[in-house]
Amino acid sequence: MNPSDGPALIPLRPPAPAEFPSAASWLEVSTGRLRRNAEVFRKLSRESKHPFGIGAVLKANAYGHGLSQVLPALHDVVDAVYVVTPHDALEIRRAERDAGLPQRRVIVIGGVDAVEAAALSEAGVEVVLGDDGWRHTVEALRVLPLVAPVKVHVHVDSGLGREGFLPEEIDASLAFLRDAGGVLDVVGALSHFANTEDVTEQTYAREQLARFQDGVSRLEALLGREAGSLERHFAASAAALVLPEAHFDVVRVGIALYGLWPSAETRLSTRIVHAQPPTLEPVLSWRSRAQVVKTIPAGSFVGYGCTYRCPAPTRIAVLPVGYFDGYPRLVSGKAHVLVNGERAPVLGRVMMNHIVVDVTRAAREDQPITTTLLGTDGGESIHADTLAAWAQTINYEIVARLGPHLARIAVP
Ligand SMILES: *Cc1c(COP(=O)(O)O)cnc(C)c1O
Repeated sequence: MNPSDGPALIPLRPPAPAEFPSAASWLEVSTGRLRRNAEVFRKLSRESKHPFGIGAVLKANAYGHGLSQVLPALHDVVDAVYVVTPHDALEIRRAERDAGLPQRRVIVIGGVDAVEAAALSEAGVEVVLGDDGWRHTVEALRVLPLVAPVKVHVHVDSGLGREGFLPEEIDASLAFLRDAGGVLDVVGALSHFANTEDVTEQTYAREQLARFQDGVSRLEALLGREAGSLERHFAASAAALVLPEAHFDVVRVGIALYGLWPSAETRLSTRIVHAQPPTLEPVLSWRSRAQVVKTIPAGSFVGYGCTYRCPAPTRIAVLPVGYFDGYPRLVSGKAHVLVNGERAPVLGRVMMNHIVVDVTRAAREDQPITTTLLGTDGGESIHADTLAAWAQTINYEIVARLGPHLARIAVP
């Protein structure tokens, strides 16, 4: 393949177990759990005075879970799909074509240039207008062959300090939209919260809501549209769970669809806001077979830096998993994996392609060992939050950094 062809296309078919390299690690993605997590939001919508659409955020390879595994599981239970890159949006259109599925709404929330916007528009994909560069994009679109105006959502920066236009900038910065009607069709407005998941009181979020309303009113006036005619979307997982006034027309749910809570604060707030707090089911399991199992004598060191020394003869299993795969080096000396439903401590440092675990207690002699790095085995579970705490990060980073090379298999 020519490097200028861009990134390789995501395989649509999950690899069959027989295709796994004999000693690799793999991810199991539960389609049933994905659908039940989506149903949590559908139920909130049904119970709301103003039912809202459910948008699935599938950016970052579906939060590391695998776009090609997650898309088919959610396609018929969500109203829209949000991705960051044009590549992912076009992959979704290709997957729909190949599977004979109807087109779901797809919105690219990342930056695009004019050529990308035109290609996305032709594929029936909507885009987000979030910066001043769009003045030039509009000029470029005028000379490109367009089948229809590009559908855009204007991003209002209501206080995150990332992409979008401040409400007070809208009149001046977006005046060019008045005569962009031939190439752009403004269909919606969006914003994004800064700290809904970091707090249990939503003072700042409510300020953001007010600024958003102000921004949307100015935009509608500028475009000569009726007040309330633009589609509005604001809430990510945390706000969708704890801030009903942020639901608007559609919510953009990411982390919660994968069964993970945005934060402990959100989980706590959910218990206060809802009489029957919803349950989220973690979708992902990460498993690996041991490459080597052997007993080393008392006094032996394990791993780089000789940071661990065995106090007694120790049965070790070497797993073909390391920081290359997304198992964080910072968990060295803290983590365990599961073997036969028991905890097996990770010994010494996490290496690029290996970790060594103590299976003295957990493994019976001469049995092939399958380990669980994330997920449940017997009565024990390792949650992405646990791995995140060991690694001094958040569950989002743990799953989003799982190597794209890992085999992913859809399971019920
Ligand atoms: C990532 C993202 C979301 C989803 O956030 P979660 O907390 O994972 O639900 C929604 N909207 C925007 C703009 C995002 O970047």
